[in-house]
Order: sequence, then C-alpha cells, then structure tokens
Amino acid sequence: MTTIQNESSVEEILASLGIEQDNPGAFAGTWLETKGEPIVSINPTTGEPLASVRSATADDYEKIAATSVEAFEAWRRWPAPRRGEVVRQLAMELRNHKEALGRLITLEMGKILSEGLGEVQEMIDMADLAVGMSRQLYGLSMHSERPEHRMYEQWHPLGPVGIITAFNFPVAVWAWNSTVAAVCGDSMIWKPSAKIPLCALAVTKIAERVLAANDAPPIFNLAIGDRHAVGQPMTADPRIPLISATGSVTMGKSIGKVLADRLGRAILELGGNNGIVVTDDADLDLAFRAVLFAAVGTAGQRCTTTRRLFLQKGIAREMKRRLVAAYGSIRIGDPLDPDTLMGPLVDGGAVDDMMAALDTVREQGGQVLYGGHRVDRPGYFVEPTLVEATPHMPITCEETFAPILYIFEFEELDEAIEVHNSVPQGLSSAIFTTNVLSAERFLSPWGSDCGIANVNIGTSGAEIGGAFGGEKETGGGREAGSDSWKAYMRRQTCTINYGSELPLAQGVEFDI
Ligand code: NAD
Repeated sequence: MTTIQNESSVEEILASLGIEQDNPGAFAGTWLETKGEPIVSINPTTGEPLASVRSATADDYEKIAATSVEAFEAWRRWPAPRRGEVVRQLAMELRNHKEALGRLITLEMGKILSEGLGEVQEMIDMADLAVGMSRQLYGLSMHSERPEHRMYEQWHPLGPVGIITAFNFPVAVWAWNSTVAAVCGDSMIWKPSAKIPLCALAVTKIAERVLAANDAPPIFNLAIGDRHAVGQPMTADPRIPLISATGSVTMGKSIGKVLADRLGRAILELGGNNGIVVTDDADLDLAFRAVLFAAVGTAGQRCTTTRRLFLQKGIAREMKRRLVAAYGSIRIGDPLDPDTLMGPLVDGGAVDDMMAALDTVREQGGQVLYGGHRVDRPGYFVEPTLVEATPHMPITCEETFAPILYIFEFEELDEAIEVHNSVPQGLSSAIFTTNVLSAERFLSPWGSDCGIANVNIGTSGAEIGGAFGGEKETGGGREAGSDSWKAYMRRQTCTINYGSELPLAQGVEFDI
C-alpha cells in the first residue's frame, strides 16, 4: 500500500486504490469484461478527466444478480457473529485506506478534504456498529395463551439487497446499507451514481480483498451503469426482495411504483428541504456557526443541507448582517487545500440548475442578499447565496441541490412551525432557543414533522447511532443505527407446542 499524503499526485492516489485509466464497472465475485459505454469520471475542481469506467450492460446485470443469489444461499448459513467478523475486517481495511479514499472522494465529488475523510470515517463507524449488531439481532418472546406452548419471533436473512446511491455521499450511504445487510446475512448489488464511479470501484476492491481473505461468498457486488441498464432491471427483479434507494424524490417516485407493482420492499431516502428556526432568545453565536456549516458545507449538496432559515423578528436583522458578512468571507477553491471551506458543485448541470432556480427566485419576488453568481475559474464553482424570501414563493418548497439559503422572518413560534412544515419534504429540522418550552414545542407531536429534529445543533451531520431518514416525500426510509437492521431481515413468528394436547387459540373447538 502506498502511503498517501499531501504531496501525493492524483495518479498515486488512484494507483494506491487499484484504479487504472480504464476500468471494468461490473463486479460479480470477479471483475467482468464489461462492454458497456465508457463513463469518464470528471474532477469538478478542474473539469478534467480522472479515469474511465466501462459501464455494466443488461447481460452483466444478469450475471451480477445470479452471483448475488448464489452468494446469499451460502452467506445466510454463516453464523451472524462470523459475518460480523468479516465486517470488522472491512472496517480495518477502510482505516488502512482512509487517507487515499478521503482524497479520492474530494477529487471526484468535490467536497472539502475534511469532509472526504469524514465520509470514510462514517463508513468505519458504520462497520464498527454493524459488528456489534451481529451479536444483537434480537427477537422477542411472548407468553402463549395456550398451555404448554411457547411463542417467539426470530429474524432471518432476507435475500440479495439492491443498493442505489446518490452522488453526494458516494461511499457512506453504501456503508449504511452494506455493513448492516452483511451482518444480517444478505448479499447485495450496489448501483452507485454514474457521476462518481471511481469511489465505488475503490471501495469494492477493498471489500473484495476482505472477502477473499475470509473465503467468504461474493456478497459485495457492483454494477456501475445508468438507470436503463442497471437501475431499472434491478428494481423490477423479483430475486431482489429489498431495494434501498437514495436520491431525488423523482427517482423515489419512479422506483416506488415499480416496487409496489411487484410488492417488493423499499427503503427510500430522498430529497430534503431542511429548516432551522432561530428564536429571539437563542444563543446567536451558536446559531450563526451552525447555520453556516449546515447551509454552505458540501457546497449545499447534502440531503440535510439547511435550505430555509426562519428568524424571529427581534434577532433577524443582526443574524442577516452576520450571515452576509460571513458569506463574503467563505474561502472558495480547491477542496484538497486545507484552507478551503467550499469546493465546486458536482458538474455543469448542477451549476445550471442553481442559476435557473435563482432566475425563478427573482421572478417570484425574492431578493438576493448575497451571491447568486458562478465563480469565474475552471471547474464548477458558484457563490454561496442568501435570499430574502416569503413563504408564498413556490420555489422555496423545492429542493435545489446547491448552496441557496432562503431566509424568512416570523413573529410567533407557531407561525414559524406551520411554514416550516408546509413543504412536501420532511427530512431534517432544528430549532435554536434557550427556552425549554420552545424547544419542547418544536419536538412535540404537533411540532416539526421531520424524521430528524434537533435543538441547538444544525440540520446536517447526523450521527450513525440513530435511525436516519425522513417523512413525507423524503420517503419514510430509515437506515444506519437503532433498529434499522430489521428492514434487512425477515421476521418469523414461531409457536411451539411442548404438550400432548392441541388447544386452539381464541377458545375455538374443533373436535371430531
Ligand atoms: P438522483 O435521483 O439523480 O440519482 C440517485 C441514484 O438513483 C443514482 O444512482 C441514479 O442513477 C439512480 N436512479 C435515478 N433514477 C432511477 C430509476 N428510475 N431507477 C433506478 N435508479 C435510478 O440523485 P442525485 O442527483 O445523485 O443525488 C441528489 C439527491 O439525492 C438529492 O435529492 C438529495 O437530497 C438526495 N439524497 C438523499 C439522501 C437521504 O438520505 N435522504 C442522502 C443523499 C442524497
């Protein structure tokens, strides 16, 4: 393994992760000789190519699915703690490659290096958590109403799982799913975003070595390709009982219909439109720092990015003044440079979408307080943007995947919560207040309607120990910690008669 450090070149980073200039994009226990269209991975900081991947064809998908079914047959027979041991070794290998992988994420996706490294750490944390889970896949036992009977629930492996991931967390979302699915006894097929293929290649190569060292069946499979060759056939495939899909609401609605048609299971982690409420009694320093990271971090390309800020009248002016000043001093540039706070958007399409959204903002009466432009340099850079908005602007109900923050003012907390909840999405939310009554009001059943609700921390940067996911059009899925593992297993209720009579439940008599 090459030691990767600040001075390492792009070629050294790629080589240390086993990536060549031209790579097959399909893995079914072995790398397939894919004949699909090449996908060129572009560095969004420079607009230059990094390497290319030959995408999987429909035939490749068929081989990958067959391999995953076979691997499941074998893997489900492994005791769960032994499966956990394989995942423990995966965590160790990820630790060994953290620096290189973190840099690759930054090169390919454009998030700043500390976030790239943080994403690898999130994979490691997930794997560590899953190792513990492998000894805690508990079922309940119940008291039977019938004499000399015992009743309990047990959890069995489910089958091959299809994992569809978005570009913005190119590896962590795979780990949320794959580490848990692996200890649960499932095999899997990963369909990553075609915008970020190299990260998926690098992680699959690491996983391949861990499986080989353990003589384990090929549970971690990969199909890089577009939705037509891979995403849609996988979603429609009855051999895949669960599809865990992360991405836009449009994608979720499309695959949700296909899954409903075949009664397949879904975990949908879709778009957010996250809000922070700041009351007059809030600690403004705390709120200010949290809003900055949550709105500008990852260049506004997190599902949990703060897109709407609700300021109570008494502090609104001061908070806007601070934000405008801070937005002007955000250091935009090469995300590998430790001084940079905001890197590029993922591609030219994302920049165009942001500019189109800002045209709509202006048409709908919004006022740009800061930013709103492309940055004149190679790559896909934009200014972080603050917009004074009103709840009547329809554009504020949409997720634009870019660093635009809509600011609203309010007088009473109830009014802020009502507007906060009035959008179709329901992922993450936060309130900044020092008043316990306001905090509890926000967390009450008639408060925030989101899957995540925080007090005095921002909307982004969730920890893996909790169940992650959102309500309404965010899809209702839950991943990562808590009891999310149950979605990757099938529940079986067992009743055992250890007597010599055959009593029926509910007192039913059926004697001949
Ligand atoms: P996207 O919807 O364009 O693509 C996501 C993935 O779905 C890609 O792999 C894509 O190829 C695949 N896909 C798209 N349509 C498909 C179809 N019909 N059938 C099968 N596969 C299909 O999203 P993106 O631009 O990559 O990512 C940004 C979006 O993801 C944002 O909306 C963001 O909020 C969301 N996101 C949500 C979460 C979450 O946990 N809630 C996390 C990260 C990103």
